[in-house]
Amino acid sequence: MIIQNVRVLGGEPVDIRVEDGLIAEIGPGLTGGAGDEVVDGGGAIALPGLVDLHTHLREPGREDAETVLTGTQAAARGGYTAVHAMANTSPVADTAGVVEQVWRLGREHGHCDVQPVGAVTVGLEGRQLAELGAMADSAAQVRVFSDDGKCVSDAVLMRRALEYVKAFDGVVAQHAQEPRLTEGAQMNEGVVSGRLGLTGWPAVAEEAIIARDCLLAAHVGSRLHVCHVSTAGSVEIIRWAKSKGWNVTAEVTPHHLLLTDDLVEDSPVGAYNPIYKVNPPLRTRADVEALRAALADGTIDVVATDHAPHPVEDKETEWSAAAMGMIGLETALSVVQEAMVDTGLLDWAGVADRMSAAPARIGRLPGHGRPLAAGAPANITLYDPSARTPVDPAAYASKSRNTPYEGMTLPGRVVATFLRGTPTVLEGKLT
Ligand SMILES: [Zn+2]
Repeated sequence: MIIQNVRVLGGEPVDIRVEDGLIAEIGPGLTGGAGDEVVDGGGAIALPGLVDLHTHLREPGREDAETVLTGTQAAARGGYTAVHAMANTSPVADTAGVVEQVWRLGREHGHCDVQPVGAVTVGLEGRQLAELGAMADSAAQVRVFSDDGKCVSDAVLMRRALEYVKAFDGVVAQHAQEPRLTEGAQMNEGVVSGRLGLTGWPAVAEEAIIARDCLLAAHVGSRLHVCHVSTAGSVEIIRWAKSKGWNVTAEVTPHHLLLTDDLVEDSPVGAYNPIYKVNPPLRTRADVEALRAALADGTIDVVATDHAPHPVEDKETEWSAAAMGMIGLETALSVVQEAMVDTGLLDWAGVADRMSAAPARIGRLPGHGRPLAAGAPANITLYDPSARTPVDPAAYASKSRNTPYEGMTLPGRVVATFLRGTPTVLEGKLT
């Protein structure tokens, strides 16, 4: 197959020849042989297939919200060739049996590779370590462990988990939320929560756990990954930990790069719209600016979606009762373009690093995140940054519709996605 007229990382137009799932050749004026399939790239930007470190696929247990099939269809439409599926399913992915089930569902139905994340503690209950070694040794070869949705708040358990995963080069991905400081919290603690009379979620609840975990990771010489960093103070702590040479990485979500907590009070879709209710909460403009700067300078390594599908009945209810979370796979690249590229903070090589190379490296997925070059697997995303697309949740492949961008126009459009040379999306549509 020849993919004609694409600009690798936004460079000069070239063609890409794909053979047996690998990139065989990249250069100008490539001509295919007889019988070669030719795809017109139309001058789109070619990026290495995106990798998500933080996706909720909801299967098993909440197939009304998302399934491995629909979630990976959404991922492919968003330009992803691999996603890490979070462990907070029902049953929880805390045994070799469940992670192998998710891994197998991914192989059977996946429109992208599905790499299960294992729970840190049994049932996400924070009392007893799960079978980390058995999950690592399973067919799924789990390397990322997280109780995401809940924080591993017990310092002794967190220390043991960090020690344990060293044996198989694993990483603990922490959802940093001090539970006592966030009891009953509904939104960011600040001026807006004060005005609205909603219980606030202080930045310190996130920052205290991140500081503790950086110290623990350094103490035991292990690898820590911080999920969905949302405050300027968290950025400062991670910057400090990295300056010490500690093995700490971090991610930020697209929504924390664009949206702020005043949307709870006033937005295009009204006040108190639970579409903006998310964990960690949307923060202030100053936090958004700090997160963007940290992603640009590499303090934050990765953009991860925290794609969190919820059915309408769990979201379209009063604020206090609504579920927390937003879908994000199908809009991530557009939001990153708006927040980072169009603002001049990141170029396309930077986007490829933060959305493909770095997450693949942290998640230990050697078949993903490689630079587009001869010999690499043909995991390729074609993206047209000049498109302007009004957000239409009805058009999404995800089974859920809880996008915070409804009513907005976002830049860019994923034109095509190739997984080991096989198109999963062409002309913006699932194949
Ligand atoms: Zn989380």
